Amino acid sequence: MTDDIRDVIIIGSGPAGYTAALYTARASLKPLVFEGAVTAGGALMTTTEVENFPGFADGIQGPDLMDNMRAQAERFGAELIPDDVTAVDLTGEIKTVTDSAGTVHRARAVIVTTGSQHRKLGLPNEDALSGRGVSYCATCDGFFFRDHEIAVIGGGDTALEEATFLSRFAKSVTIVHRRGTLRASKAMQERAFADPKIRFAWDSEVAEIHDDGGKLSGLTLRNAKTGETSQLPVTGLFVAIGHDPRTELFAGQLDTDDDNYLKVTAPSTRTNLPGVFAAGDVVDHTYRQAITAAGTGCSAALDAERYLAALV
Ligand code: FAD
Repeated sequence: MTDDIRDVIIIGSGPAGYTAALYTARASLKPLVFEGAVTAGGALMTTTEVENFPGFADGIQGPDLMDNMRAQAERFGAELIPDDVTAVDLTGEIKTVTDSAGTVHRARAVIVTTGSQHRKLGLPNEDALSGRGVSYCATCDGFFFRDHEIAVIGGGDTALEEATFLSRFAKSVTIVHRRGTLRASKAMQERAFADPKIRFAWDSEVAEIHDDGGKLSGLTLRNAKTGETSQLPVTGLFVAIGHDPRTELFAGQLDTDDDNYLKVTAPSTRTNLPGVFAAGDVVDHTYRQAITAAGTGCSAALDAERYLAALV
């Protein structure tokens, strides 16, 4: 165990974590930030052009944006550790956070910003073509697919919402769903059925993703009932089969909703435990944007600052 008791420990280093680090550092709280071992910098480290983060008129590469956020937090005294947190005890007044070497760190407040992981199809070529035709976020990438033929995979509200959003840009959108009926709400279904650009491939799964010189060139679909295969020549593939918030670490301590996202007392970032705050995509299953994650990271820092001030 380390000797000191920190004011704040932040778990996670995406836009939410680095923004919380910046604000708490500027408030002289000397935050300790666990960035994660493999995924330091968060989801935007895996993308190329980010065109919708305000302040960058010409856009910015995802990793450059995160390097800037990291440097800005560090400049004001945030201590950054590229390691995973492996265990936490958040219940007492002094919280403990254990790193991968087994060292226990203590703090009066903890900010959780561990993000969420989009589900993948798990097919060959999927990772290689991510950002080259394969996407997991229509709001982020739809603009790049003007006049493309696009496939959206999934049958829930998110898939239909993404499809109706994408139909503004695309030549056509084919919703590929492994069943013969949709899980999405009636209103979303009606909107999609009424959209002349949207088609459906029912009872269908993606069997293959085709790579033509580093770009997506189409899909092979397999009919789940007959086993028959068919070709879908698309240059855009949006996978909308759900997200998994990274909340396993907090099971039994922090309250979650039915989909495992951390619950906070909105509009604050307070969790069910005093001194524990949560922000970004680990809480948010609605907006899931870098700017909203950064915004709630700021809120969490201010909430933590006020909580600590009241302890004195
Ligand atoms: P994340 O960025 O997911 O960060 C989570 C952090 O938690 C990571 O640093 C990880 O290392 C850390 N972590 C997790 N578990 C642990 C642990 N046990 N110990 C220590 N650390 C841990 N949004 C936009 O606004 N514009 C875009 O153009 C855009 N493009 C995108 C492209 C792609 C390919 C993806 C995947 C997402 C994109 N997004 C975009 C969405 C955006 O990236 C997310 O909304 C945002 O990153 C969420 O921020 P966050 O801080 O909540 O979580």
